[in-house]
Amino acid sequence: MLTIPDYRLRLPGPTAVPERVRQATALPVLNHRGAEFKAMLAECQQRLKPIFGTRHDVLLFAGSGTAMMEAAVANVVSPGDAVLIVVAGQFGDRFVSIAKALGATVDTIDVEWGGALDAQRVAERLKSRSYRAVVMVHNESSTGVAYDIAAVGAVVRDTPALLIVDSVSGLAGIEMKMDAWGADIVVSASQKSLMCAPGLGFAAVSAKAWKVIDRDGRVPSFFADFRRAKASLEKDGTPFTPPVTLVYGLLEALHMIDEEGLANVLRRHSRLAAALRAGVQALGVELYNQPDISSSTVVAMKVPRGLEGGAIVQRLRERYRTVIAGARHPSQTGKVFRIGTMGAVSETDIITDLRHLEATLKDLGKPAPTQHAGVRAALDALAASA
Ligand code: PLP
Repeated sequence: MLTIPDYRLRLPGPTAVPERVRQATALPVLNHRGAEFKAMLAECQQRLKPIFGTRHDVLLFAGSGTAMMEAAVANVVSPGDAVLIVVAGQFGDRFVSIAKALGATVDTIDVEWGGALDAQRVAERLKSRSYRAVVMVHNESSTGVAYDIAAVGAVVRDTPALLIVDSVSGLAGIEMKMDAWGADIVVSASQKSLMCAPGLGFAAVSAKAWKVIDRDGRVPSFFADFRRAKASLEKDGTPFTPPVTLVYGLLEALHMIDEEGLANVLRRHSRLAAALRAGVQALGVELYNQPDISSSTVVAMKVPRGLEGGAIVQRLRERYRTVIAGARHPSQTGKVFRIGTMGAVSETDIITDLRHLEATLKDLGKPAPTQHAGVRAALDALAASA
């Protein structure tokens, strides 16, 4: 019988899957075109819309977040079209690679990693050239920054350009108001704040984007053609065999979100991330990003001087069974480590993270200024925001 190591999964995705969701995914596979499964897909649709902040359809695909990033670009950008991509971290950088692979002409707005974006920079660039799309990441998991989509939406909305947003690590953990903010395609995935196993991707699409997708019958993708997915969704189906059991898990997770209340879920993320940030800073660890734009779903930290990022991650895993993330992008190697505060996270998780991080830093020769400083600071932050 298969066994897996017993450790605390504290990555910025995939995140720990709650027992209820895991049990749901263990149920028997149904006919994916039968009435029972269609009812589940329809219910997922109704429960996902408020999380995206949209009245439009939310298309569902088998695939990871990157598949959805690619699908978003492929459905609206033809080879040679100009796109403007905000690059503020690893996932903005990935959008550049995707758009280039699809033959787009790519311009970038380069933001200092961990720093803020002035939406006026987007406005200026839109005056200088006609773009098919402005492309950006809502929540840069590599730097711990949540970007202001509303501010960018306000400058893109009245231009012919579409606004494509990756909210893979934001959705359901930080607010998304796609329609009100003027985002045209928002993509996400199951394994982050949605508390499911990896494997499901989502794309919500505005009326403005549908006009482009429908323009001339040209979507250079068969599997990820949004038109095909929409046509099936209208009959509560998917064009191809979906990961049936993952949909059970999604539905259970959406029930959990609705039971807690979306506003409460978002508040919990914000409160816990703030407590973790307070705790790590009290341990003498600096945030990687500009603090006032910190994400509520991931805390990114600078590796303390004299230490190696990989050593912190390794020690936490081997000695304390706490699995966090280091750097993924070559430019950040050894400089950043990250803890997820997304999904089914509780106060206990944050306090345990800080106990283990304090012990790890001590093991590596960087003891806390005072014993339990991190836990104390986090408890104070939690009390202040209770
Ligand atoms: N976008 C963001 C912001 C992410 O954090 C991730 C994954 O960490 C992705 C895209 C890519 O998702 P996946 O690994 O599911 O392809």
